[in-house]
Amino acid sequence: MKSRKIIFANWKMNLDSRGISNLVQDILSEMKNFDNLDVILSPPFPYLKLVSDLIRGSKLSLSSQNVFYEDVGSYTGEVSTNMLKDVGCDWVMMGHSERRQHLLETNEMINKKILASTHNGLNAILCVGESFDERRHNKTFVRISDQLKRGLRDVKYDALPCIVIGYEPIWVIGSGEPARLKDIQEVHNFISNELDSMFPDSTNLPRIVYGGSVNNLNINSIISLKNVDGVLVGNASMDCEVFCDIVLKVGDST
Ligand code: PEP
Repeated sequence: MKSRKIIFANWKMNLDSRGISNLVQDILSEMKNFDNLDVILSPPFPYLKLVSDLIRGSKLSLSSQNVFYEDVGSYTGEVSTNMLKDVGCDWVMMGHSERRQHLLETNEMINKKILASTHNGLNAILCVGESFDERRHNKTFVRISDQLKRGLRDVKYDALPCIVIGYEPIWVIGSGEPARLKDIQEVHNFISNELDSMFPDSTNLPRIVYGGSVNNLNINSIISLKNVDGVLVGNASMDCEVFCDIVLKVGDST
């Protein structure tokens, strides 16, 4: 069950309706065959419905980049899980380092988002990762263990297949240079072992994807690593040719 590969396109706060529409249509006409993969597009909130309409009937899925953990009420500016489902989302992203840093999102908030999302039938990708300073000071594993344990607190076994862990070393995001393969391998093995010890009776643990300057030139070496079940792609996912090449190569690796 863990082996189905997953590719996540994170468009962050980029593009406008015309750019999104062109990109999605280009991806749809370019990408013919990815039966063995989950390919998920994550546009900014205002374009979710647009993408949902464009990808209807295709094998692409839709994700938001954030969600709020309450179902309804006086939470100005927030968006609920049901609203996301209503516009066609199957997925939601949480804990991205940019939100932890700029929006002060805490592990406790992220945990509530995971619980609300999985309870309400959405798949969730939980992003974790260390800063450059943490890596330099040998704090990588402490930081990631903490993010996993607090982020996944009270998650029930039956929600595990709906969760993906995204490992994103913060300093390589958007840098053009991914982390060293040896470091990616080490952290993915660590996350896999942590999940095993947190959920010892599960045969269906969350998949683990790598994110941070993935492109079509480095994807083959990254996707061939053990315990790397897919990739989270930022900048390179906004270039149709490069993104489709990544999808093709991941598909060929399975
Ligand atoms: C991201 O921020 O999720 C990401 C993976 O970005 P990039 O691929 O541009 O490093």
